[in-house]
Amino acid sequence: MTDPKKKILLITTGGTIASVSTKDGLVPAGSEILAAEVERLRDYYDIEVCDLMRLDSSNIQPEEWVKIARCVFERRKGLDGIVITHGTDTMAYTSSILSFMLKNIDLPVVLTGAQLPMRNPISDAFDNLRTAFLMAASGRAGVFVAFDRRVMLGCRAVKVRAESFDAFESVNRRYAARVTTAGLVVDESVLPQRQGEPMLCDRVSTEVFLVKLTPGLSPRVFDALCAMGYRGIVVEAFGVGGMHFVHRDLAGKLRTLVERGISVVTCSQCLYDSSNLHLYEVGKKLLDVGVIQGYDMTTEAAVTKLMWALGNGYTPAQIRDFFAESAAGEITPMNE
Ligand code: ASP
Repeated sequence: MTDPKKKILLITTGGTIASVSTKDGLVPAGSEILAAEVERLRDYYDIEVCDLMRLDSSNIQPEEWVKIARCVFERRKGLDGIVITHGTDTMAYTSSILSFMLKNIDLPVVLTGAQLPMRNPISDAFDNLRTAFLMAASGRAGVFVAFDRRVMLGCRAVKVRAESFDAFESVNRRYAARVTTAGLVVDESVLPQRQGEPMLCDRVSTEVFLVKLTPGLSPRVFDALCAMGYRGIVVEAFGVGGMHFVHRDLAGKLRTLVERGISVVTCSQCLYDSSNLHLYEVGKKLLDVGVIQGYDMTTEAAVTKLMWALGNGYTPAQIRDFFAESAAGEITPMNE
């Protein structure tokens, strides 16, 4: 007897993969654009389709993250896996926040998209969708991004190329899986560890600002952010985490912010490797004033983790503890 087909829910949200050419440029549509390929996939999977939204991912914001998380959580019973088609531009933010919102998720949730619309004969949509379905049917729980025959943790994905087919990298973490001639080859050591029952934690704060440090940046920028009511700031600092204190004392300014209860997290402008504030004086000063280390987290993971923690009512002390540990595989533990 052949195994029953795996039951997969396909949620569409728009993006290039499901877009059509119009006089105004590419405009996202729904599953009708994917229909022919979905029909072919029905030979292998039992597929349900949910057209949730039709947006370019530049328009996907916290309101949409909540909708997607709720849809996944509410519809997951009885399914083997879920595939979400999504624009590539902000996919790494969505996959990161879903990694926190869908705590201990008990099935694979795989985001994918494409650099060319499905209707383009040389589109990467076919391969990407097939990789996503393979991972969704794999029985490996977690939030993932599937692209260019590779699968990565959602909280490690970064869009690194605007046009090439290999648009995504898994930053500071090996791929969770690859598609080879042998099929889907999963690296079990990369998969997230579930620590309890699945929970939907869909509250998120928008009071988080990302600052990219430039030489000479004025400390007054942080006064302005404070006045605007931001409660969390992520600073992409230089190298392993340095910020200037000569001429313009950023460390001194950040001290006043931390004293006012604002959580300040630093990560590196370098895509790869970890920040380490212990190494240089320009980093140590930040630790002294209470800045939180982002270690080897991607910027997308650091921003969404802070939005999530603030949305869930964490105090500054709880945020500090939360950033010292990995919730979904976004930080490499010190002993690895
Ligand atoms: N602008 C598109 C989007 O992010 C790009 C893509 O999907 O590749 O929705």
